[in-house]
Amino acid sequence: MSEFISTMSHNMWLFAIISFIFAAIIGSFLNVVIHRLPVMMKREWQQECNHYLDEYHKDIISPIMPKLEQAIDGYPEKYNIVIPYSSCPTCHTHIKPWHNIPILGWLILKGKCAACHTHISARYPIIELLSGLVISFLALHFGPTIEFALSATLTFGLIILTGIDLDEMLLPDQITLPLLWLGLIINVNHVFSSPMDAVIGAAAGYISLWSVFWAFKLLTGKEGMGHGDFKLLAVFGAWLGWQILPIIVLLSSLVGAIVGIGLILTKKITRSNPIPFGPYLAVAGWVAMIWGTSINTWYLSMF
Ligand SMILES: [Zn+2]
Repeated sequence: MSEFISTMSHNMWLFAIISFIFAAIIGSFLNVVIHRLPVMMKREWQQECNHYLDEYHKDIISPIMPKLEQAIDGYPEKYNIVIPYSSCPTCHTHIKPWHNIPILGWLILKGKCAACHTHISARYPIIELLSGLVISFLALHFGPTIEFALSATLTFGLIILTGIDLDEMLLPDQITLPLLWLGLIINVNHVFSSPMDAVIGAAAGYISLWSVFWAFKLLTGKEGMGHGDFKLLAVFGAWLGWQILPIIVLLSSLVGAIVGIGLILTKKITRSNPIPFGPYLAVAGWVAMIWGTSINTWYLSMF
């Protein structure tokens, strides 16, 4: 029996290590998405804007039209998640395959472009390492199950959302909405929650933060969070059921307040600086996915 357990845990560690490697490779793709998706979105907005002006206000707008077109970002014309291939933003040297190896590539290059020695942000290896660690943790927690594959998918989505929200104060629909549908669909088979709890969770997640947003706006005239935050809480409702929502809101507000006060005290930001709420929601939701039921039980046992 003990031999069986030791082979089993041996296999589990192997599974975790393989998961780490795959997740780190996917992590380097997540870096690309975090960097490029906002550029693609801004271009789309600009095209829609130009289209609208062209259609309805040609007479007024034609004198300033060239200016609007100039406002384009300096990236090549064909620009999506795959094209162009990764290159140095300064000298445009293509990145060699062995420099693209997750984490190690950056270490080999000592954080500098091989050709022009421009500094390469440490964020790239950090995101690759984070993906690897978090996914190998899920591998050990869930084992080789459908829950593992699905929770890993959600985690990759959350990493992208966190990165983009920190950079741009945006939680793109292109990521939140597919995650929302996926949560509802998987729970038809009761993976993380019953179908009914998932549907109620999605609606309740959206409506609760939507109400907070409007209450705050009516009271203070300010916008405390973005519409993407409602959608992200709806994602967690859809994946984990409505019962988990209070703990996510509580955890994210708590961590958000601690980090926010810390940043104000260390004068990194002032009180009027907007702080993206998405990263806190993402972390709180992820924690709730793993330990939510235990936290809820512990919390309710106090009363
Ligand atoms: Zn370079």
